[in-house]
This record gives sequence, structure tokens and C-alpha cells, in this order.
Amino acid sequence: MPTGKRKGLLWALAAVGIGVSFAALLPSVARHVPWRVERWMDRAVGGDALLRPCRGTAEPASLVAFNKLVARIYPLDAEDRELPITVDVIAGDTINAFAALDGHIHVFEGLLGQVESPEELAGVIAHEIEHVRGRHIMQGLAVNLFTLTALSSALPTGSPGNSRIAYSLLSMKFSRQQEAEADERGLARLRAAHVDAAGFSRFFARAELSSAAPAWLSSHPASEARAELAHRAGGYPTAAVLGAAEWRSVGAICR
Ligand SMILES: [Zn+2]
Repeated sequence: MPTGKRKGLLWALAAVGIGVSFAALLPSVARHVPWRVERWMDRAVGGDALLRPCRGTAEPASLVAFNKLVARIYPLDAEDRELPITVDVIAGDTINAFAALDGHIHVFEGLLGQVESPEELAGVIAHEIEHVRGRHIMQGLAVNLFTLTALSSALPTGSPGNSRIAYSLLSMKFSRQQEAEADERGLARLRAAHVDAAGFSRFFARAELSSAAPAWLSSHPASEARAELAHRAGGYPTAAVLGAAEWRSVGAICR
């Protein structure tokens, strides 16, 4: 091989090497990004402007009951209180809940129609809280950074599609390792809050069997693994999360 060509190849290999190590380092760096930076990024992609939380206009008790359910599992301690987590219900038929930038957890109204008990809903939210605590959103964003940059630069600045694309990237799929971490810590959270962990495995097992199972479930651990994890996490004293009337009213939050 001529020297010039070999030099070119070496440079290309070095560039790939630097790129790969940079990409490999990003997730661990992302874990330490200050919350104020994440808040700034959330504003930059216009996250808040796109999603309006349901406020229980027709039945104010529904918002009170939903907030009571959330308060049962978050915040639990001083470390929790340092986080900026908010949990809201947003209108839409999608059977899903997701964590976005700056600790915003969104539960679609469609999910409320699929959960059969407050414990099931608390299980899903506890899982999402641990995605936030593990900084999984920043990690995923760091990995997708180049895609995001490429997509945004292909669109005129300030176009509505810009933030929409950015936002859909933010509701990204997590790795199996991140899912397992959110499951394990979510179950520990339920235990600390004395919430029955059986709701957690019941919901995910049912969702997996349903043909309407959202795409996000495909990246989640298998239901048997989840049930096993929940079983091992169980065996502690539990107390009901909401009364029957409170739980019924939660379904009316977007009316
Ligand atoms: Zn997840």
C-alpha cells in the first residue's frame, strides 16, 4: 500500500476510534449533566409547549386523587426532593407513559383505561421515575445526539416540525439494561412506599399478551422475568393506594 494511502487509512481508523470511544463515554457523562442543563435543553426543544396536562376540569377530585397516587411513591426521601420530577396525565388514546427531559413524566389518558388498579398505575409510574433518576433520558439523548443534530439541521429553524421531531426522539426506546434498572429500582420504590408489587407484574404481563401492546413494551424485559422480579420484591406489608371512589374519579381527569 502506498504511504499516502496508508496514512489516510490510519487517520480514518483513528477518527472512527475517537468517535466510538466518544459515543461509549457519552452515557456515563450524561449521568452527571446538571439538571439545569437538562431544563435548558427541554426548553430549547419546546417540550412544554407541545403537551398540556389534564387538570380535572369536569371533576376536580380526579386531579386530587391522581396527585395523591403520585405522592404515595414520590418523593419518598430527601434525595427524591432534589429531583425536578413532575407526573401529569395528557389527553390521547395511546396506551403509554414516558419520561421526557427535565423530569417530566407523561401518562397518556389511554393508559388510564388499561390499568385495572391504582397499584398497577403506581407500578408503571415508579418504573418511569427510575428512568428519570437513572438519567436514562440524557443517556439516550447523548447516544442519539448526532441523529438529532442531523434531523434538526435538515429542517428550517423554528419550524413546528423541528421540535416535534426532537420530541419524538426524546420519547426514545431505552436499552434492556436501562429497563432492567428501572424495573428493579421501581420495585424497590414500591416496597419503600408499601405499595403491592403484584400490580406492577400484573399490568406488564397483561400488556404483553394484548395485541394492542405498545411498541415500548417490546424493549422491556419479558413478563416472566418481570413477574419473577416482582415476586422476589414482594412479601412486605402493603396498604391500599386509593379508595374505590378516588380510583374511579382518576379516569375522569381529562374531561
Ligand atoms: Zn421503561
